[in-house]
Amino acid sequence: MPATGGAAHRANKTMTFALLLPAAAVLLGATVASAAPFDVPAARDSVTAAFEKDRSRLEALYMDLHAHPELGFQETRTAARLAKEMKALGLDVTEGVGGTGVVAVLRNGAGPTVLVRTELDALPMKEETGLPYASKVTAQWEGRETFVAHSCGHDMHMAAWVGAARALVAQKARWRGTVLFVAQPSEETVSGARAMIADRFFERFGKPDYGFALHVGPGLAGGVYYKPGVLSSNSDALELTFTGRGGHGSMPHATIDPVLMASRFVVDVQSIVSREKDPAAFGVVTIGAIQAGSAGNIIPETAQLKGTIRTYDAGVRQKILDGVTRVAKAQADMSAAPPPKLEFIPGGKAVVNDAALTATTADVFKQAFGSMAVEIPQPGSASEDYSEFILAGVPSVYFAIGSYTPETMKAAAGKPLPVNHSPMFAPAIQPTLQTGVTAMALAVMNVLPVEP
Ligand SMILES: [Zn+2]
Ligand SMILES: [Zn+2]
Repeated sequence: MPATGGAAHRANKTMTFALLLPAAAVLLGATVASAAPFDVPAARDSVTAAFEKDRSRLEALYMDLHAHPELGFQETRTAARLAKEMKALGLDVTEGVGGTGVVAVLRNGAGPTVLVRTELDALPMKEETGLPYASKVTAQWEGRETFVAHSCGHDMHMAAWVGAARALVAQKARWRGTVLFVAQPSEETVSGARAMIADRFFERFGKPDYGFALHVGPGLAGGVYYKPGVLSSNSDALELTFTGRGGHGSMPHATIDPVLMASRFVVDVQSIVSREKDPAAFGVVTIGAIQAGSAGNIIPETAQLKGTIRTYDAGVRQKILDGVTRVAKAQADMSAAPPPKLEFIPGGKAVVNDAALTATTADVFKQAFGSMAVEIPQPGSASEDYSEFILAGVPSVYFAIGSYTPETMKAAAGKPLPVNHSPMFAPAIQPTLQTGVTAMALAVMNVLPVEP
């Protein structure tokens, strides 16, 4: 998922949140609120002490993962490395879940079950950071050779995931329950989470009561960024072809003009956004590509359009998809043309953080990190497939951590720093890694109290 942390730094006071939370979130609030008091500063100091012992090991793990990135569903070395780390900790490890996915179970007595998720995959691109541990790896991707780089920061998530497991093992006296550490394949193609669920994840490992995931972004290192409700968008691609009847540009009566249909569609489709959708709800339809014709005096046979649809709310999404379908068909009907060929290609579903769980987790972050715990003012426009676990019924908090030191930010002198998916994206290992470990371990311990 690109640029969650970037969004965290772009305050937009005009944004409003017209989010209707499911009733389950409200009911959950009572459960979370009744948990035994959690001594956050004491737990933070214990986690910090555990981290200090693991610091060099985890930094070495991060640099190793960074230097050996693998593409979606090809993450065999990465998965084996994580499995080895978790087995060494004594966790019950299952490999090959949904392809290359790893599930490591940490049991510590009776209590709720918490899911902690990382991604395994890197991106088909060349790293240009010049770091001593920069990737030089190449791999096959969609039929050709490409460079591979961890330019989204999933290597940081993996190192923090292992670090959180080590901290929780070291702190077993402070919590009770079960933690399912999940390393999923191929987040960048928004298909790895679905692959694990299709491989009977819930039937085999049980339904977690809570879930947490984090993403590194270009914010201030040491910072933790959270937001209740919608965090990322639903993303759907659309591909539309109008078919007419080609002919001479001087004889339109002998043709059916697909360029006219496409042109009307581009204009009329915006009426769904402006006239049918609730104006307070977020929704975008963009037609980014039109291809038709070859010469000014030839009416072509077909016109092809490509676009993207972004929404936060499932109901708004469906309304827009239905509207696009209707408007496309209407254009063809108006021209007495055959029905258009229309395909929606689903991308990521919106990540919607559980309101009550976010509130209690935010309280822990504020106690642990003070003013470095910051509420994100608006959702990001990126998409992310952790939403598959949420939609399957795991109330969750997906939060962000920053990655640039104050020195780096000062040196940039106001110029934008590289964001996720940039070939120059280079998180500072510290305090980024320590922040990820501490935030994740505390978020988990908070929902797994030792009953008095
Ligand atoms: Zn990404
Ligand atoms: Zn990502």
